[in-house]
Amino acid sequence: MRISLVGYGRMGKIIEAIAVDRGHVIAFKIDLDNQEQLAEISPANTDVIIEFTHPEVFPHHFDQLISLGVPVVCGTTGWYDRIDQFKQKVLDQHATFMFGSNFSIGVNILFQVNKLLARLMNKQDSYDPYIEERHHKYKKDGPSGTAVSLANQVLNGLDRKTDLVHTQLHKRPPEAHELSVGYIRAGEIFGTHTVAYTSEIDSLTINHTAYSRNGFGLGAVVAAEWLQSKKGWYNFEEIFED
Ligand code: NAD
Repeated sequence: MRISLVGYGRMGKIIEAIAVDRGHVIAFKIDLDNQEQLAEISPANTDVIIEFTHPEVFPHHFDQLISLGVPVVCGTTGWYDRIDQFKQKVLDQHATFMFGSNFSIGVNILFQVNKLLARLMNKQDSYDPYIEERHHKYKKDGPSGTAVSLANQVLNGLDRKTDLVHTQLHKRPPEAHELSVGYIRAGEIFGTHTVAYTSEIDSLTINHTAYSRNGFGLGAVVAAEWLQSKKGWYNFEEIFED
């Protein structure tokens, strides 16, 4: 398979190594210094594009990416407030697009456990949930896309929680219907996500800790392999649903 990388930073370089190891060829490596080459990507030279840039960059080149006629795997997070608008564009243009707030297989299993746990906790009113994530100091968005996915799964499963709150809590305590989401930025942490339920008598915690970026890179390449024969809009998470 011929893969073009858009964003050749920490993740782009790891994806290149894993893709080559799995027998794929890298067609283009696009970063800030050769952005104009994005227009040269086409089905004649690329089977799948893998995009890992920055939250403030991705929305600007989204239209161009989906107009190239090549399936796109997007790892960039921090744009999900525009998800409905972007989905409609992909469907209108009969393009192919997969996003994932987290391409690690372990986190996607955590997503499934989190959904089940929220359903089980729905009737257990004495437990109050919270979410916490930790990442390296370079991460631009917060809370992470993964924490937002975990929060939405809890909100979908628990009738007593209706809203995610984070920055508001700097000034006041959470209200009963609010799900508290906290985050820390420090050092070189690859990514740690925790969902906890606490009551007066005990607490129950599920957690995923990444030991390197390789898990995200492998998931992105597996996603590209899966996507090359598909059409439409996909969330990586769907692959793990029963
Ligand atoms: P990074 O800063 O190391 O790399 C991003 C690269 O994009 C940089 O080299 C930058 O120069 C380049 N870039 C900026 N503007 C560009 C443009 N217009 N065209 C092409 N390239 C451009 O960041 P990273 O650690 O590789 O992470 C990238 C993104 O992926 C972040 O949003 C991060 O949160 C996200 N991420 C997602 C997952 C996941 O599993 N979904 C995992 C890790 C990181």
